[in-house]
Amino acid sequence: MKYAYYLKKFWLLYLATGILCLLATIGADRTVTTIAEHSPIDRNHTIIIDAGHGGEDGGAISCTGMPESQINLQIALRLRDLCHLIGYDTCMIRTSDVSVYTEGNSLAAKKASDLRQRVKIVNAVDNGILISIHQNIFADSRYDGAQIFYAPTEGSKALSDQLQSTFVECINKGSNRKCKPANGVYLMQHIERPGVLVECGFLSNPAEEAKLRSKDYQLKLCCVIVSGLSRYINA
Ligand SMILES: [Zn+2]
Repeated sequence: MKYAYYLKKFWLLYLATGILCLLATIGADRTVTTIAEHSPIDRNHTIIIDAGHGGEDGGAISCTGMPESQINLQIALRLRDLCHLIGYDTCMIRTSDVSVYTEGNSLAAKKASDLRQRVKIVNAVDNGILISIHQNIFADSRYDGAQIFYAPTEGSKALSDQLQSTFVECINKGSNRKCKPANGVYLMQHIERPGVLVECGFLSNPAEEAKLRSKDYQLKLCCVIVSGLSRYINA
C-alpha cells in the first residue's frame, strides 16, 4: 500500500526522471555521432577487425589459464567501439566466442574451413584494411611487448611499421622489437587487402598477462592501434 501511495504522490517526478534518462541516452548517442562526423577521418576505408581463434579453437592458453581467443575478442570489441567513436567503418569477423567454419567434422577440418571463411570475409570488403588481433606465448616467461606481422600485400609493411613504432613510442618504451613478414600465416598469405597481425603481448609473462586481461590496458592497446592506423591512412 505504501508503494502505491508514493507512486501516486510522486508520479510526475518518476516520469520526469524517466524522460531525463531517455534524453541522456539519446544525447550520448548524438555526441558519439557528432564526434565521428567532425573527426578528420578518411572515410574511404573499412577497418576489418579479426579476433583470432574462437569457439573450439581457444588459441594459446595464458599462464593463469585464460584462452587467447577470449582476450582477442575483448580487445577486438573495444577496438571496434573506438573505431566507431572516431568515425571509421568496421567489419567484424566475429563478435562472440565462435569459430566461423562452414564445413568439416574434425577439429582440423573446421579450423581449415574457419581460415578460408576469414579470407573470404576480408577479400569481400572493398577498401578494407585488416587488423587481426592475437596474443603471443613463449617458453621463457621473461619476454614481453607487442609485435606486428604483415601480409605480403601492398601497404601492409607500411601499416606494420607505423603500428610497431607507435607501440614502442607509447607502451613498449625501449623495446627494439621489429615487425616481421607473416610467413606461414594462412590468413595473411591469402588476403588481397593490406593487413597486419598484431600480437598484443605475451600470455606467458605473468605481469603482461595480468595487464592484457585488464580493461584499462586493453583500451590503451586499442588507442595505440587506432593511432598507428590513422598515421598509416593519412600518410
Ligand atoms: Zn593466436
